[in-house]
Amino acid sequence: MSGSGGSVDAIAVETDSLNARPTDAIATPDSASNGTPRTLFPGSPALDGLRTADGSSWPELRRRLPARWGRLWLDIGLRYLMLALGLALACAVAARFGNGFGLVAAPFVAVWMGFWFASIVLFIHEAAHYNLHPDKDKNDRLAGNVICVLIGNDIKHYRAHHWKHHLYLGDTADTEISYHWAPTLRFAIETMVGVHAWRVFRAHRNAGLDAFPKASARSRNTLALARGIVFHGAILLPIVLAGWWSAAVAWALAVLVVFPYLSALRQQLEHRSPDAASDVDYTKVPHGAVNRMFGGDPFARAFGCAGFRRHLLHHWDPSTSYTRFDELEGFLMQTEVAPLIDGARTTYFAAWRVLARG
Ligand SMILES: [Zn+2]
Ligand SMILES: [Zn+2]
Repeated sequence: MSGSGGSVDAIAVETDSLNARPTDAIATPDSASNGTPRTLFPGSPALDGLRTADGSSWPELRRRLPARWGRLWLDIGLRYLMLALGLALACAVAARFGNGFGLVAAPFVAVWMGFWFASIVLFIHEAAHYNLHPDKDKNDRLAGNVICVLIGNDIKHYRAHHWKHHLYLGDTADTEISYHWAPTLRFAIETMVGVHAWRVFRAHRNAGLDAFPKASARSRNTLALARGIVFHGAILLPIVLAGWWSAAVAWALAVLVVFPYLSALRQQLEHRSPDAASDVDYTKVPHGAVNRMFGGDPFARAFGCAGFRRHLLHHWDPSTSYTRFDELEGFLMQTEVAPLIDGARTTYFAAWRVLARG
């Protein structure tokens, strides 16, 4: 790429710096405004300006709260177990009752597997914020081998892309755009036939991170994609060789249809404004930053795992591990922003009912 000049370096440097920044992702006093805390993230107050009645601040508290690594890995492990149970069931049905019956059962098993597959992929987000392991290199290796392998992407690439979501939430430059559409039936069908995947792919390209990658980033991306293909091949090949091809169909439906749909739906419920209009192009008109806090029922805990059900907290302080959200929420509820948090509380179902009107 040496002939492409400055733009190559500019984007390569940007990708690198976006990888470095999640480490200091907290609102900080702005020296240009005489030390007044500033809002670093759209829709977020400056957390380090907040104090509880006893004078504690979040940066102080957070320093004493390392991620709960045991809980994190237990959460990931249990989700893999759920996914494996779904696949084992699909194989058992094909082996016992034949592929005809297996095909009838495939959509149901696919919903189960796609749900847990999506749930595991959410942890890529913890990895993006260096919350899988205290050592950054090990964090990225674990992310690659345990999470990114499912979707064939590279954690450094994802981190740069995802970080722009934090910096530009609700703006036309936001890199995560599924909330630009309402969770309607039409959207569900578009997702199932791949139309939405194409939109996301295009937005990803427009974000510029793919345009002129450094050679090292290119080879990382290729390696990550190859690793993903090998992973899915290693699952599908023995199943097909055993003659249980309906189980392979169920797996493909889970990965290619259910997973993308649930991922898009979740993001719509997290960020779409009830005032958003279906005929507005939010890549041209700012949508505005909207964050929600969903309840703690078992469905919400599974669907919005890895802290996603308290997405507002994550946007207010992206570098805090979800395993410390109880403490973060507890702190914030003792400060002046408690009413803002209470105002954002809802359930996935209630949010869906409002937003599905289009
Ligand atoms: Zn978000
Ligand atoms: Zn994030």
